[in-house]
Amino acid sequence: MQLCITSEHMKQLKDLGRRCYPEEACALLIGNDACVSQVIVSENIASEPKRFFEIDPTVRIKAEKQCREDGRAVIGVFHSHPDGDARPSKTDEKMIYEPDLFWLIASVDNANKIEIAAFHPSSDDGFEKAELKIEGK
Ligand SMILES: [Zn+2]
Repeated sequence: MQLCITSEHMKQLKDLGRRCYPEEACALLIGNDACVSQVIVSENIASEPKRFFEIDPTVRIKAEKQCREDGRAVIGVFHSHPDGDARPSKTDEKMIYEPDLFWLIASVDNANKIEIAAFHPSSDDGFEKAELKIEGK
């Protein structure tokens, strides 16, 4: 599995992860054929946003409507782990409701250091690591 994304969108996600620290950031990834062409930021509406994330359903509905109109699709979700690791948590594993979505997960710390890794639900229960192909300079 491979997800391609431009360096510009990566920067947008990194800025978002840093801005939301110490809370988890979240966003939808829009595109075609495993290539991200738009990032739609959502407010994290989880009741404990420092520990969990939940994308605002109205943001998702609006994104789906836009995708129907322009022929793209929601292909992934992004969220950050403040002071955590750039890999799925046990909670994340329980939140795989859509087996076709990529997951981009960022680790971010109080020194603004941020790393992003890509994952995809595997055929068994958990996630497998996906390749992240970054395009542009
Ligand atoms: Zn998580």
